[in-house]
Amino acid sequence: MKVRIDYDECMGDGNCHKVCPEVFGYDDDKMQGVVLKETVPVELEGLVRSAAMGCAVAAVLIDP
Ligand code: SF4
Repeated sequence: MKVRIDYDECMGDGNCHKVCPEVFGYDDDKMQGVVLKETVPVELEGLVRSAAMGCAVAAVLIDP
């Protein structure tokens, strides 16, 4: 499973980083979430799905 962020849509609330800091960081300068691990470790897939569902602007995009 791969994950990316649509940076045009991200509104920078940092929720993905709070839900799964192993995969999502936060860029304080750009005030946006960032993907730290494009290829998601299997044990973190559930959290990454939660982060995607919890993103208010649907900017967390998962490729199965
Ligand atoms: S949860 Fe969505 S809007 Fe919030 S920082 Fe992550 S990608 Fe951006």
